[in-house]
Amino acid sequence: MQNTEHGLPMHAPMHQYPVMDGELSLGGVPLSRLAARVGQTPFYAYDRALLHSRVGELRSQIPPNIKLHYAMKANPMPAVVAAMAGLVDGIDVASAGELKVALDAGANPMEISFAGPGKRDAELRQAVASRVLINVESFRELGVLQDISAELGAAARVAIRVNPDFELKGSGMKMGGGPKQFGVDAEQIPRMLQEVGRAGLSFEGFHLFAGSQNLRAEAICEAQQKSFELALRLAQHAPAPVRFLNLGGGFGIPYFPGEQRLDLGPVAENLARLNERAQGELPAASLVIELGRYLVGEAGVYVARVLDRKISRGQVFLVTDGGLHHHLSASGNFGQVIRKNYPVTVGNKVDTTDREVASVVGPLCTPLDLLADRMNLPIAQVGDLVVVFQSGAYGASASPQNFLGHPPCVEVLV
Ligand SMILES: *Cc1c(COP(=O)(O)O)cnc(C)c1O
Repeated sequence: MQNTEHGLPMHAPMHQYPVMDGELSLGGVPLSRLAARVGQTPFYAYDRALLHSRVGELRSQIPPNIKLHYAMKANPMPAVVAAMAGLVDGIDVASAGELKVALDAGANPMEISFAGPGKRDAELRQAVASRVLINVESFRELGVLQDISAELGAAARVAIRVNPDFELKGSGMKMGGGPKQFGVDAEQIPRMLQEVGRAGLSFEGFHLFAGSQNLRAEAICEAQQKSFELALRLAQHAPAPVRFLNLGGGFGIPYFPGEQRLDLGPVAENLARLNERAQGELPAASLVIELGRYLVGEAGVYVARVLDRKISRGQVFLVTDGGLHHHLSASGNFGQVIRKNYPVTVGNKVDTTDREVASVVGPLCTPLDLLADRMNLPIAQVGDLVVVFQSGAYGASASPQNFLGHPPCVEVLV
């Protein structure tokens, strides 16, 4: 595969959307007709068939008894959560607001888990009443859960979120290892397990989440391996058998030039080995992996219309009606250290050979509102539709929609 352009790395190919009459299509609908159907730009469109195929592809490789969870913070659109609830084994929520969406979507409460470093007492009460699994992240939470369990006459179902003594190497975002606000340090877990036993809560397992957006199979395997070993050691102190061992996820998708898709093969083989060991060493336990971005990220696009075409000192600027207020991640302001371009194209002109170097900017009065910095794009005019790929995760809900008072975006599942 050609992976350079004039010696520079290129974006991984985006072949998930077929081209019909020169236009990208989603769910069988050409982009300009989809824009008419939505009734406005900017919008996000998610492709239902791609959600199905991604989950199917993953399931076909990992052992069938591994539980696949969807971490809905990646994309909490209710229609997406409902679609995912029908495809995966469980939903991971990170607030009572997300819990409501998951329950409304029909997810089985016994297969919902609730994590987050700052759970309010009221949220913990809702979670206990819902019978979902609560990933406990502090000693304070344990005390609150004991009181709530007594009040509601139902023992809270708890797993302990472990802050491991290692990191997920090469992750876009590290969420475990070293001092962290997430989970309970591994060293403190034996003491916490004693308290769980004394408090009469229903102990069900452990949750480890080392990091996010990782494209290196060997790093993911190593983290899962170490998570498993750590859980085995901690399980010796547990007041009840481990029923769920959530090994996290962190599977990434390619965003930037030079990045390659994650090779699932080694990850699936590693999970199969751990799964076999679990049957001997933690016989009551199901292994769980929880994925957000990997399941939904490649299944969505963000679409904005060109409002103006300007040339400033020789450089072409396509000014669109969309920008960082809807898509903070693509602007480079959501966890990127050095800004890089997401894959972008002109979705109603993908076939044209008339191309130029242009920057795509949004309508906000800040230079941060940049969707593409000097990219080689099909030549676009006012009215054309700019498409940002890899936008199914951490898009609308992760963006400051109120900033500067422009209209909100619309989301559709096609
Ligand atoms: C954010 C998060 C996820 C999802 O991460 P992705 O990179 O989207 O897969 C999973 N588990 C926990 C605990 C998280 O905080």
